[in-house]
Amino acid sequence: MPIPTPRATLTLRFVSMLLLCVLLGRAFATVPPGKAEAFDQLAGQLERGEIAPDNQADMLKVLQQVKGLVPPGDARRELRYRYLFCILGMDASPAEGIAYADQGLADARRIGYVEAEVNFHFCRGSNQESLTTSRDALVDYDAGIALARRHENTRLVADGLTWRGSVQSLLGEHALALVDFLEAQKFYETSGAPIESEQNLFNIAVAYRRLGESAQARDYLDKLLALGEQRHDRAQQLAAHMQLGFLDSDVGEQASAESHLHKALALARAVENRSQEAGIHLGLAQVDNQQGRYAQALEELALAQPGFARTGDRSNRDMVLLQTAKAHAGLGLHDQAIAEYAQAETLLQQSGNLRYLAELLDARARSYQALNRLEPEVTDLRRLVKVREALDRKAHSDNATLMNYQFQTAQRDQESRRLAADRALKEQQLQSLEHVRRWQRVALVLGGVLILMLLWLAARQFRRSRKLHRLAMTDPLTGIANRRHIEELARRALGDARAQGESLCVLVLDVDHFKSVNDAFGHAVGDQVLVRIAQACRQVLRRFDLLGRMGGEEFLIVLPDTSLDVALQIAERLRRKLESLPLGNLAPGLEVTASVGAAEADHESDDLPELIRRADTAMYRAKDAGRNRVETLAARASVV
Ligand code: GH3
Ligand code: MG
Ligand code: MG
Repeated sequence: MPIPTPRATLTLRFVSMLLLCVLLGRAFATVPPGKAEAFDQLAGQLERGEIAPDNQADMLKVLQQVKGLVPPGDARRELRYRYLFCILGMDASPAEGIAYADQGLADARRIGYVEAEVNFHFCRGSNQESLTTSRDALVDYDAGIALARRHENTRLVADGLTWRGSVQSLLGEHALALVDFLEAQKFYETSGAPIESEQNLFNIAVAYRRLGESAQARDYLDKLLALGEQRHDRAQQLAAHMQLGFLDSDVGEQASAESHLHKALALARAVENRSQEAGIHLGLAQVDNQQGRYAQALEELALAQPGFARTGDRSNRDMVLLQTAKAHAGLGLHDQAIAEYAQAETLLQQSGNLRYLAELLDARARSYQALNRLEPEVTDLRRLVKVREALDRKAHSDNATLMNYQFQTAQRDQESRRLAADRALKEQQLQSLEHVRRWQRVALVLGGVLILMLLWLAARQFRRSRKLHRLAMTDPLTGIANRRHIEELARRALGDARAQGESLCVLVLDVDHFKSVNDAFGHAVGDQVLVRIAQACRQVLRRFDLLGRMGGEEFLIVLPDTSLDVALQIAERLRRKLESLPLGNLAPGLEVTASVGAAEADHESDDLPELIRRADTAMYRAKDAGRNRVETLAARASVV
């Protein structure tokens, strides 16, 4: 690679800066941050059901707002708007809805936007339900659920389970439906999605109703109705009243059913929900038929028709035909009823709804009976027996499905409880380990601090003891060695001299008439005189000579490697030095002299006390001889 010249480097830098600017510019041009955030917020609120207008017009307004927030050129957000519109806003025919969803699916796959793809599957399914039969929608929901499961998007899996459960419920697969809803519910509850959770509780209630578990169903519906009233959620109240109406009708409480359905109707009108309105009229027709009010039933059915037709909803066509036939039969129009039963039968067989098929066969057999047509009556009754047997079997298998689900759920719960307990235990162990570690660290730090403190104390102690030792060895007044120390030093020097075969001398120096110095000048001056004497001695002595104060005004001097001759010379120098010591500044006229006794060590016989004793004796001899002299026990004493 060629090394770029400074000019080339500059050009390179300029080009990369330019590129960066272009890229940043593009990023900001495509996604203005404020708008994108506003879009995400609103879309998220819609998705989570935090914004849930209870009429179509308001919902469309919100969706329009979402659309307006799509940043230009932002393909993902554009698709997100589209699936929201597809699921929440479309009021077109089911065929148009399917086309819209298909286009969305293709676009989502093209840009690899999984969430959108899943949602378009669900939207397609919901339109398919209205266009043909609920069963056809299962393909779409299965596809959406499988895709969501593959991408481990549990929330979308739960949504898909809810959609699919609704279809299963409509198809009479109540146990399968309940299983889907219960599984979805677990996710909604654990993920804290209260709105979905409430809607799904609804589905659970309906599934229980269709399974014939009316007590369970009523519990849920009563609770949901109360919640809907509490939250002033008219859509929820409407749905609850409708389901309670159907439930009451199922268990033969027609008056209560009617009351619930009328309340539902008023709410449906208030929120302008046409397809619900049609469904309620259908329910009321059923109640009328049950109570023998056939003409009224036909009126209700007439009211239901346009609502279903307008929304293109064919899913209730079988029920409309069945109730119409029953009303006609009730009115004695058996031929017409039989023709309608035939149409309804075809549709019911398609959707596989055995419960209504049984109802149909039972009703039609009665029409045949009324018409005295024994043969088709018997055929229908025979088929009725078979359908009821199938229904029994179904009830058995539903039961088995539920039991199995409950068993598996219990096992899974147990397993997850075990796992949770394991996790908690591990967590606890980790925590206590961390605890121990923390204490270890604290102990380490404290230990360190303690060691430092001990070291400091030891150092201080060492310094103190050294000082004490020094003090113990030093004469506090003069600062020279005290008696103990000078004797110790002398003993060592004597030992060394003996070992080396060298001569050694000691001098004992005593100040003359010192008592009179004290008497004449005071004790304090006497002290200062002693200090001056010590200083003067140090000056006269050699570096290796040893000096100490024996007590009072008496000093001991050790002269290593020194013959007696030299010792006498040194003693003489000392004497003279003291004699001429200028002390006038301490007290006018103050003078001192000293007497010195010298002794040389005899290695054969001397120990230190003996040596000192001899020097001492010599010193006393000097005193006796008139003071201010140097004496030794040998004859050769020098005299001033
Ligand atoms: P001599 O010539 O016979 O040695 O006479 P002297 O007076 O020096 O001897 P003596 O033993 O009678 O007296 C020693 C005096 O030294 C007595 C004491 O008051 C004095 N003295 C001893 N130690 C100290 C001291 O530390 N400071 C002072 N100021 N005086 C001391
Ligand atoms: Mg003395
Ligand atoms: Mg003296």
